[in-house]
Amino acid sequence: MDRNSLFLEPWKEIAAIHWNDWRWQFRHRLRGAARIDGFSGYNPLKRKALQGVSRAYPVSITPYYFSLIDRRDRNDPVLRQCFPDLREINFSLGGVDDPLEESSHMPVKGLIRRYIDRCLILTTTVCAVYCRHCNRKRLRKKSNKSMTVRPLMRPMLEYIGREKAIREVILSGGDPLTLSDQRLDAILKSLRAVRHVEVLRIGSRAPVVMPMRVTPELCETLRKYRPLWFNTQFNHPREITPEAARACEMLLEAGIPVSNQSVLLRGINDSYEVMRELLQGLQRISVRPYYLFHCDPVLGTDHFRVDIGKGLEIMEKLRHSVSGLCLPGYVVDMPGGKVKQPVHSPRMDDVEPCR
Ligand code: SF4
Repeated sequence: MDRNSLFLEPWKEIAAIHWNDWRWQFRHRLRGAARIDGFSGYNPLKRKALQGVSRAYPVSITPYYFSLIDRRDRNDPVLRQCFPDLREINFSLGGVDDPLEESSHMPVKGLIRRYIDRCLILTTTVCAVYCRHCNRKRLRKKSNKSMTVRPLMRPMLEYIGREKAIREVILSGGDPLTLSDQRLDAILKSLRAVRHVEVLRIGSRAPVVMPMRVTPELCETLRKYRPLWFNTQFNHPREITPEAARACEMLLEAGIPVSNQSVLLRGINDSYEVMRELLQGLQRISVRPYYLFHCDPVLGTDHFRVDIGKGLEIMEKLRHSVSGLCLPGYVVDMPGGKVKQPVHSPRMDDVEPCR
């Protein structure tokens, strides 16, 4: 028997009504070491080691995202983004838990303010898929006390209400789209009630990892709070599926601009050809490539980091071959986390980067 069929079996008979239901996808996320055993095909020693990784940094993969993996390829770009890797716990490779020093830019717990006119709020620490390259993987570290965000919401809102210079609030996490429509509605409503908050922004990977989350009901909820911008994170052209395209289209139809913030990841999208296909694919589905982030020096992600010179080389080639609408700003977080720095082309100098 193909070892992979063991893993796919439970979903074979799943009716479309369930598969297309984000709550089903969320409930059936592949989590923890036991599930990894089912498809890893590794020898027992390596399996045990991988279990160690998933204990340090939890695993969560939606059936949908898992279905995008070419399971014959251990270096598959989708698999590498969601499947644990032994190098994550080889801490001698460098990096720190919080390279952007977000924790020291929190005037109140859960609210990050690095710029005078905007702030970011952590609405949850949960994501549908835990990206192995995440720059907030510290929030899920088992050794840390997990942060319960809900009780922090009121102090965050009170702070925003007091700080009149804040005109833009970014809902982040974790992934805000793991919250119910009702919960999101309540948060957005409270923010909209603050007169000086002009613009809202949501950062979510849901269109990529669980596109069925974008429902007509969600779009109706979000529509009420425009101007509202939506940033997502496609990192590889294989993630641009008809389902993902439809999710983005629904947001656009609701009047919500969708932009993309990719992360430059070694072995995943660090080639001109892959990046071009990704950017042109995004343009085809009307998603604006906004930023290409240089992977932050987060502990346990060294194996994803690409040399800046290589990033620049890719950008340079792109600049000569794709339209300006396809071209993201290539930015790097400076050590200390004070600012993000464009690396590169003079024509992006007027862009102030902010994730
Ligand atoms: S969805 Fe975003 S916050 Fe969640 S793990 Fe991925 S990169 Fe991190």
